[in-house]
Amino acid sequence: MALFGGIEAGGTKFVCAVGTGPDDLRAVTRFPTTTPEETIARVIEYFRSQPEPVAAIGIGSFGPTDPDPASPTYGTITSTPKPGWRNTPIRQRLLEALGVPIAFDTDVNAAALGEYVWGAAQGCDTCVYLTVGTGIGGGALVGGRLMHGLVHPEMGHIYVRRDRERDPFPGVCPYHGDCFEGLASGPALEKRWGTRAENLPPDHPAWALEAEYIAQALVSYILILSPQRLVLGGGVMHQEVLFPLIRKRVQELLNGYVKSPAILDDIDSYIVPPALGDRAGVLGAIALAQREMGAGVP
Ligand code: ADP
Ligand code: ZN
Repeated sequence: MALFGGIEAGGTKFVCAVGTGPDDLRAVTRFPTTTPEETIARVIEYFRSQPEPVAAIGIGSFGPTDPDPASPTYGTITSTPKPGWRNTPIRQRLLEALGVPIAFDTDVNAAALGEYVWGAAQGCDTCVYLTVGTGIGGGALVGGRLMHGLVHPEMGHIYVRRDRERDPFPGVCPYHGDCFEGLASGPALEKRWGTRAENLPPDHPAWALEAEYIAQALVSYILILSPQRLVLGGGVMHQEVLFPLIRKRVQELLNGYVKSPAILDDIDSYIVPPALGDRAGVLGAIALAQREMGAGVP
């Protein structure tokens, strides 16, 4: 069976691996995201030093990106605020250096694909993967296809309803202030409450407010895409009180309107953590590469 490469290109760290799936994931390597030159050079060195060649590579990248294969700037990180990375043609640079087919998508679309192929969203042709971490982003498959359009969805930047008395915090998004990411990302929690999110105890009022914003966003995704499952990952979701609070609030906000047993009776299996844990991104990148080569993944 051919071997594939996966790159999870995150704004904080890169993860590289080779393999064919969750039971065969080799040489997983993590390194911090520094300058594009240095970081891309490490990726090239990683693949050149593998004992066996890969048939194709998949990249799941932070963004915003150009994910359109028909565009001359396909596989470029475009308007990111991350210093030095604006307009970085990461796919093109790797293609020139490594000479194998390279599939490219957003980090969250890759994670959604990983969960769809091997994880918590198996069998769900329409599903959403949301990460709540340093930023908030969502990827989706709709009818089995990774969702793109004009560019790609930016599910973290939707507006949610903020009760200014309950939450006077103006938000941290440099573009929108109190959008979903501005109110509910890890850095927003840290700035609002004055301590890192992992230090806030489970009974802190931060978590009910956080669940409120996440539930509002999920309700929008449910109403617009009608996903068969929602997978929630990222560092902030490690706070375990969140899942039950979010599920209850989603039911309350929908108020019985969406008539599906998944929501009405079995919400615990509808809004779930990633089955692949923190490997969803890199495994999804491998699945992207396999799909590019038509290699037997759904
Ligand atoms: P990134 O989004 O950079 O890839 P993560 O998904 O790990 O990274 O998210 C990092 C964020 O998650 C930080 O803001 C951190 O404070 C927060 N975080 C990490 N662990 C926890 C935890 N156990 N509970 C709540 N928040 C956490
Ligand atoms: Zn925003």
